[in-house]
Amino acid sequence: MAIFITRRPKEDFSADEKEIALQKKKKIVSTLINLNASNLVLTRFSSYRKTIRLVAWICRFVYNCKHQNKKKDGLTVSEINEAENLLIRLIQCESFLGIEDKRIISLNPFIDHGIIRTKTAIFQRDDASEFRTPAILPSYHPLVKSLIMEEHKLKGHIGVSHVLNSLRERFWILAGRRVVSSVLKTCITCKRYSSKNVNPPAPPLPGDRVQDASVFQITGIDYAGPILLREYQKAWSFLFTCAVFIFYNFAMFNSEFHIAR
Ligand SMILES: [Zn+2]
Repeated sequence: MAIFITRRPKEDFSADEKEIALQKKKKIVSTLINLNASNLVLTRFSSYRKTIRLVAWICRFVYNCKHQNKKKDGLTVSEINEAENLLIRLIQCESFLGIEDKRIISLNPFIDHGIIRTKTAIFQRDDASEFRTPAILPSYHPLVKSLIMEEHKLKGHIGVSHVLNSLRERFWILAGRRVVSSVLKTCITCKRYSSKNVNPPAPPLPGDRVQDASVFQITGIDYAGPILLREYQKAWSFLFTCAVFIFYNFAMFNSEFHIAR
């Protein structure tokens, strides 16, 4: 048990109000962010869109730490676009050594707002800048694979050429056809529809079907019902099948097992 005894100070205590005010004004805001595109997708989400939204929320957090007028609503389109651009820059930083990289030097690359883009043959066309100058992406990056799979599923499980054409409106993936083909081979839904039927070898016929017998000596019976007849009578339909010869007989019986008419 601890006993605290409070006593009034013997001398008059005068506080330095200016010093107290200065100490109150001091605020320490320390933000350490280390974004790694590979870790983001490997440890969090396999979906490209979800990864973009994750980056957008991180950027929102950083903005709110730095500014007094904090954003509180849901993510805006511009925030999501900025997050995607940031993600593309991270992928390119991890994969390329700049525009002098040997793998992309033949694509006539240039840097636009921090993103490495390529000048396509339709550069002079009056069209969207992303279409004329798509961003260059590496072949085997986890986020690029999730981007390909996302596009494939979003467009209704389309084939390699369609995915490639759709992505080339915004991105230029190195060795695109090969990597798109390899990613689409991992789609479980497509694999289910494109798999071949299993054709097991036909087993030998049962003994009852191959032995010598009279007609309808070995018979299979199937029935359905009840069926309502006139005057509210019930009847059942029977199908007798000879197991040895190709004969069958169809008959209808009532509840007293008489032939229904
Ligand atoms: Zn698919």
